[in-house]
Amino acid sequence: MNTQIDSSYRPDALVVGGGIAGLQSALDLADQGLKVLVVERGASIGGHMIALSKVFPTLDCASCITTPKMSAAAHHENIQILTNAEVEAIESRDGLHRVRILRKPTYVNFDKCIGCRLCEYACDTEYRDRFEEGLGAVRAIAVPFTNAIPQKAVLDAEHCLTCGSCARVCPTDAIEFDQKPRTLAIETEAVIVASGFDLNSVTVKPQYNAARSQNVIAPMTLERLLAPHGPYGRVLRPSDGKIPGAIAFVQCAGSRDESIGVPYCSRVCCMYAIKQAMLLAGALPLADITIYYMDIRAFGKGYEQFFQNAKAMGINFVRGKVARIDPIEGGDLRLHVETTEDAENPLEERTHDLVVLAQGMIPGWNPAQTTPVACASDGFVATPRLTAPTATTAPGIFTAGTAAGPKDIVDTIAEAGAAAIAASQYLFQKRETAVAG
Ligand SMILES: Cc1cc2nc3c(=O)[nH]c(=O)nc-3n(C[C@H](O)[C@H](O)[C@H](O)COP(=O)(O)OP(=O)(O)OC[C@H]3O[C@@H](n4cnc5c(N)ncnc54)[C@H](O)[C@@H]3O)c2cc1C
Repeated sequence: MNTQIDSSYRPDALVVGGGIAGLQSALDLADQGLKVLVVERGASIGGHMIALSKVFPTLDCASCITTPKMSAAAHHENIQILTNAEVEAIESRDGLHRVRILRKPTYVNFDKCIGCRLCEYACDTEYRDRFEEGLGAVRAIAVPFTNAIPQKAVLDAEHCLTCGSCARVCPTDAIEFDQKPRTLAIETEAVIVASGFDLNSVTVKPQYNAARSQNVIAPMTLERLLAPHGPYGRVLRPSDGKIPGAIAFVQCAGSRDESIGVPYCSRVCCMYAIKQAMLLAGALPLADITIYYMDIRAFGKGYEQFFQNAKAMGINFVRGKVARIDPIEGGDLRLHVETTEDAENPLEERTHDLVVLAQGMIPGWNPAQTTPVACASDGFVATPRLTAPTATTAPGIFTAGTAAGPKDIVDTIAEAGAAAIAASQYLFQKRETAVAG
């Protein structure tokens, strides 16, 4: 993977974000002979999907699907990938987009780094591993995770003690403590915004007390706990390492609520909660698993059957709203629930030892401030035409995946392919017109 790019490099198209949407769009464009630059602000491509355990509705291993796409993009002769690089602004004029990219220092020369990890083994400083949602530890200089692409070490300046151990063992003299942030300007004719999503904080509803209990966790944390190559290799409760015996999922904990600024449905939470409950039932056969929900939105192909299978497996579905979660003795949690099960006695208290909050999906990037792309009232990229879901308000700029709103992987990949077709049609027509004119 070549990482040497300067302002003279002129790709036919630029893709903002190296998640599954960005990678699929890039591959589809590159297969048509177009030169594509993928800019990813993280240390690896793969986005959220590479951190998932398995995927609904097939329960395929997520990294078994994502890693080949990451690898195909990294080895494609028409694709150039910049990681640790953030698209900051786009200025569009006369059919050309001038893109300002911030290249963050990695303190490692990627052309010299061979991914041997000797620096990582020599480093004595550890901090909470963001990829493992803070459950494991990572060295201050490390290859981001096992199947990261690129397999290059990155130094975290916030935690590095500059002791020099890494530089002393590096066989290729790749450590560069004096790297600075750099800005790069690239011109291109088409852009695909595939900047994905973030999740709102687990503390967005203070009544759920995630700030007071380590056992009120985020769904991405459970993805890592369920992953075979996750932080512990099995499901253990974060506060004390106990095997949980009564696990609760609280749905709509960060969405469908005006008061927290996320009035819309995040679309995937019902399905990933059902998936996680099924995986937990397999990993912990004795555990009691309950999903507290308002309504189950099993909208996709095979999803209703998936839901029915979960019920048949013995997962409890309780229709109701969790009003409050109180930490109690021993790290357990008392849930105050209003259910629809018993009309005479709707208020109940139930105790669980691990609670998963379904956080709301929010936009991963706001392009409206620094680019010609407008966002809708929910903050996601506006797609103004009903018949062209990958169009944006700016000619020559397209969008794909969760950048335009919450969606699952199937819809994300379909949309990424559609964005690539729309962008290539735009490019070919523009060039034909230029030749004819
Ligand atoms: C807990 C959980 C479990 C899930 N499980 C499933 C499942 O089992 N099945 C399923 O179908 N779906 C599932 N989903 C949904 C799935 O994760 C998404 O559909 C999919 O990951 C969306 O991919 P994306 O490429 O649109 O976004 P992302 O994965 O968010 O990728 C976007 C990328 O863009 C980068 N980026 C953002 N802004 C910039 C910028 N300015 N410059 C450069 N780079 C930028 C980000 O760093 C990121 O890497 C789950 C979601 C969650 C939260």
